[in-house]
Amino acid sequence: MTALFFIDVLKKQPSFVHGTSPRCHVKNGVRKPLFCSDKGDEKLFFEDQIVFLHSLGIVTKVFFRVTQVHGNHVYVLKDSSIPVSEVGLCEADAIITHIPDCPIVVLTADCVPIIIYDPIKHVVGVVHAGRLGTQKRILTNTVEALSREYGSKPKNLIVGMGPAIRGCCYELDEPCALPFIKKSPFFSEFINKTGGNKFFLDLPKVNRFEGYEAGILMKNIYTDGPCTSCENDRWYSYRREGKTGRLITLAMLQSRE
Ligand SMILES: [Zn+2]
Repeated sequence: MTALFFIDVLKKQPSFVHGTSPRCHVKNGVRKPLFCSDKGDEKLFFEDQIVFLHSLGIVTKVFFRVTQVHGNHVYVLKDSSIPVSEVGLCEADAIITHIPDCPIVVLTADCVPIIIYDPIKHVVGVVHAGRLGTQKRILTNTVEALSREYGSKPKNLIVGMGPAIRGCCYELDEPCALPFIKKSPFFSEFINKTGGNKFFLDLPKVNRFEGYEAGILMKNIYTDGPCTSCENDRWYSYRREGKTGRLITLAMLQSRE
């Protein structure tokens, strides 16, 4: 697969695997959609899962995901023997783990997929941060969960955000924009008011400043991902397309021994 999205600084981390799936991959010279249906065809989803995992050099055929609900609950994956299907029933919008060889993922199409890695404690989290989850501070909750469960210090964390809808395309009306204006003293960095009382919100940047307020160093937060709406030929965008597929953002620790 050629068009995965990677975050440079995470790619350089030893014993660490990550990546975001594109909307298409090329098989035998033919362009094929990937994860084009979130809930529809289970078999197709499973086949795509194997393609994606193989493209990252991962031999296991499954990954851990949760039922995402635009909330702020963090699932702690403590036991690798728990069935994937059981984890999949849990409602949450982030997963953290210390277990090597256990791929954890979030599904997105405009919402921000965030990977948080602690290279000191060698623990990881993935976060699904949409408008509502961001409003409810899912990223802060995940940082706190990493501290509580594993003793992670925010200053050691590396945060990378994948393809998401950005300030160029994400238009909101005033009631939806107000919580973000109230949320942070830095609001002018991520929200733009235009004529007609419309607002443009940059979701990755909101999360960048939230991460900073949670104690993560600005230099360790990477938000250079593409806009899913501008680059809709490469990434799924719910805003632009309505019913569509999902991008899968994966992180996996490898054993350091
Ligand atoms: Zn855009």
